[in-house]
Amino acid sequence: MDSDVTIVGAGVVGLAIAAALKGKVSSLFVIERHEHFGMETSSRNSEVIHSGIYYRPGSLKARLCREGRELLYGYCREKEIPHKRCGKLIVATTSGEKEVLEGILETARANEVLDGELIGKDRISELEPHIQAEYAAFFPSSGIVDVHLLMQALEHEAVRGGAEMVYRTEVTAIQPIGGGYGVTLREGDGTTFEFTTRHLVNAAGLHAEEVARMAGIGDPTYRTYFWKGEYFALLNGKHKMIERLIYPVPELHTVGLGIHTTPDMQGRQKLGPNTIWLPDKQIDYRVDPTHAKEFFEKTHRFLPFLEPDDLAPDQAGIRPKLQRPGEPSRDFIIREESDRGLPGLVNLIGIESPGLTAALGIGRLVRKMLMKDA
Ligand SMILES: Cc1cc2nc3c(=O)[nH]c(=O)nc-3n(C[C@H](O)[C@H](O)[C@H](O)COP(=O)(O)OP(=O)(O)OC[C@H]3O[C@@H](n4cnc5c(N)ncnc54)[C@H](O)[C@@H]3O)c2cc1C
Repeated sequence: MDSDVTIVGAGVVGLAIAAALKGKVSSLFVIERHEHFGMETSSRNSEVIHSGIYYRPGSLKARLCREGRELLYGYCREKEIPHKRCGKLIVATTSGEKEVLEGILETARANEVLDGELIGKDRISELEPHIQAEYAAFFPSSGIVDVHLLMQALEHEAVRGGAEMVYRTEVTAIQPIGGGYGVTLREGDGTTFEFTTRHLVNAAGLHAEEVARMAGIGDPTYRTYFWKGEYFALLNGKHKMIERLIYPVPELHTVGLGIHTTPDMQGRQKLGPNTIWLPDKQIDYRVDPTHAKEFFEKTHRFLPFLEPDDLAPDQAGIRPKLQRPGEPSRDFIIREESDRGLPGLVNLIGIESPGLTAALGIGRLVRKMLMKDA
């Protein structure tokens, strides 16, 4: 075999897996079609280190978010990656929403997130004097991280451990062969070549379903749907009015967490993301400026200092979700495919939020999956 392990995709998840395999494999390639790491979803998100409170207890999302969060704080400290445990408030603007907060705190405890507390108006105004809320669920363990510098550190660590980063190269076909996989690659100039790998990890983000299909897996449960999330930046000095992550109480049956405030490590504040289903799976990162109205209306009730002209279109990202509108939220799929006759192939499908928070936990999990037959 030309390679022991090959990872498809240099987003934060592919890089975290590559770093976790440092010193454990004889050779490792990371194949990425763009010229740099993290040019898709990993650089188009809220950069929030989630505490892990919303997910179904026992799910991969709940477990990997909790594990990943602590690993990530430790990693950021060790590698001096800019991050901040700024804390998060989920705010109830009516007393009717208090019950929802109590439910969220209960799910949080079931997920072993024990730092959450229900706080009232006085404590809220001590923490965030400019917001409007009757009650809030306060989670000090939530934070933010500079994702670009995180990915840079993970890439550096993987390369130091012997990994080879292969940029501008796309995986276009996968052929199971005795004891591994034949992989067809297309380089930026259109030339194609083939190589062989013993283990193959599909961390292709939005395109992971496609890559799994290349290996012959047409499982309908791997079907991925795209949901866009837009952001608006806060202007006119309004970013200085808040310090923490401020989230509304999630709307019933919502597919996102609600439009919230997100500070970043450069001191800016964004509002977002919304959730727009893309039925034709068209990748389009433009932000529709007319959506400013929706952003203002959804946040003005807890950010009363906002004026409509404080919002400017910023970035957008696309979530690879496993559900369509109206369907219940699904867990991550992280699966070693021996039982389909494809040993050594690990698929990661539907790695939407909290994929960034969970990345280091996912890295460890995939290492365990590969090591058992390595
Ligand atoms: C709007 C939004 C907000 C979010 N907010 C948060 C948050 O605050 N906190 C959090 O924890 N998570 C958040 N997430 C989720 C998080 O961003 C993702 O889970 C994470 O970035 C996924 O990383 P990845 O490496 O799996 O995918 P990606 O970053 O998409 O990387 C996959 C890579 O695979 C490459 N690729 C695909 N196909 C091929 C191929 N055939 N050959 C070669 N390369 C290929 C792509 O070019 C890409 O670079 C958010 C996501 C969105 C969209």
